[in-house]
Amino acid sequence: MSDFSKTYQKLTAALRRKHTLGSVAALVDWDEKVNLPPKSGDLRAEQTALLAEIYHEATRKPEIGRWLDQLESASEQLSPEQMAVVRDARREFDRATRLPASLVERKAKAQSTGYHAWAEARAKDDFSHFAPFLKEHIALAQEEASLMEAGNVYDYWVDQFDPGMTQDQIKPLFDALTPELRSLVHLAENAGIADKEAAFRGFPVEGQASFAAEVIRRMGFDFERGRIDISLHPFCSGETRDTRLTTRYDVNDPLESLYSVIHEAGHGMYEQGLPFEHLGTALGSHVGMAIHESQSRLWENQVGRSRAFWEFWESRYRDVFPQQLEGLSLDDIYRVVNRVAVSPIRVSADEVTYNLHIMLRFSLEQKLFNGELAVDDLPDGWNAESERILGLRPSSNAMGCLQDVHWSCGLFGYFPSYSLGNLVAAQWWECLLEAIPDLEAQIAAGEFKSLLGWLRTHIHRKGRLYRTGELVREVSGKELSHEPLVRYLRNRLVPLYQS
Ligand code: ZN
Repeated sequence: MSDFSKTYQKLTAALRRKHTLGSVAALVDWDEKVNLPPKSGDLRAEQTALLAEIYHEATRKPEIGRWLDQLESASEQLSPEQMAVVRDARREFDRATRLPASLVERKAKAQSTGYHAWAEARAKDDFSHFAPFLKEHIALAQEEASLMEAGNVYDYWVDQFDPGMTQDQIKPLFDALTPELRSLVHLAENAGIADKEAAFRGFPVEGQASFAAEVIRRMGFDFERGRIDISLHPFCSGETRDTRLTTRYDVNDPLESLYSVIHEAGHGMYEQGLPFEHLGTALGSHVGMAIHESQSRLWENQVGRSRAFWEFWESRYRDVFPQQLEGLSLDDIYRVVNRVAVSPIRVSADEVTYNLHIMLRFSLEQKLFNGELAVDDLPDGWNAESERILGLRPSSNAMGCLQDVHWSCGLFGYFPSYSLGNLVAAQWWECLLEAIPDLEAQIAAGEFKSLLGWLRTHIHRKGRLYRTGELVREVSGKELSHEPLVRYLRNRLVPLYQS
């Protein structure tokens, strides 16, 4: 083996080790959100901080820098795949070496204490309890961006989740989408679906859990290397070989749980489809959060809210909940799962108004970072923007600015990914319908193998060979646009609401 190949191999071995360390940290974080006793938060904060410190050390090992220098100095010997690995490793190495261990440690502690403070503040509907933690997160986010010599703090954070994306790229897409969404919301008003929705009450949790597990198993989520548990806020963590999903159940809101399980399973199946042999390198990583979200959204919305999906699952759903579903037809179920109405909570929002929730958060994050809005004024700022964008004012801060977990963990610049994911999912759905002409019939027969196979081949197996915009172009042959999402929503909703 040449010295060059040996150097490349040393680099990928170090990246793999770092990945394994990261998977331990992710497991500890999962445990915190699923199992942690209420008074064990301080211990967990220490454990998390120690793991973050070790991980940070593994990321900034000086030899990684030397190997990268060697590989970059003879980059003509690198294949496109190896180039992607080196490019990605360089980005992470530079970030890690410019950030002092003390900052990384302070961030990890703030994430853990911030999360617990948020949970308490939300339970008591007391924003002032959370405000100091949010201020600390924003200060840390600014400190990091300035150490990285970022031109714009918020762009730096957007780029952390979707490499290459900026506010200037996102804003026109969102602006073009807004009037289209508003016209759909207007169309859906007074459609009389609320009465049917009120019938979804009294669904025992055990039945909900077993039905949801059956659905995602059939879709292709592999329970031999994954599981599902309960947490305050649904999420997916872990990696290809051990993928953890969580959800929450409400006896009087079974559809929210079902669709959150399908959503998280979409994330999980993406993780399970990444190339195992390349774990730790760009080739074994997801592209970014927008692409991740495109996978969860596609399963949740394009598939899970289709009439074909319910044609298959209706009878099984009735087996589990015979009395509850008495008096509800297939059409009723289909209309309820596609009900569009403005509501205060993002995670329970329908697929149209969901995007308006994201625009609200995108606008507030921009204001928080450009100095237009102070943290102490966030509740008022939130309520005013909510009125402008969503057309409603939340009844409390728990239902408003305290509803999301993200800011409690210092996650800024992450929200836009959700709507970008919706745009990507719709753009690729058009490709799928072309590639698999009888896709709808397959879904109606409970057959998901060619759908998952297409996603595996065109998206999952590619890892991070391409960046967000590049992969969208590579798969669809076009730039990311708002138009496919508008076409998809209108195709589904206009007939439903005009009938
Ligand atoms: Zn998601």
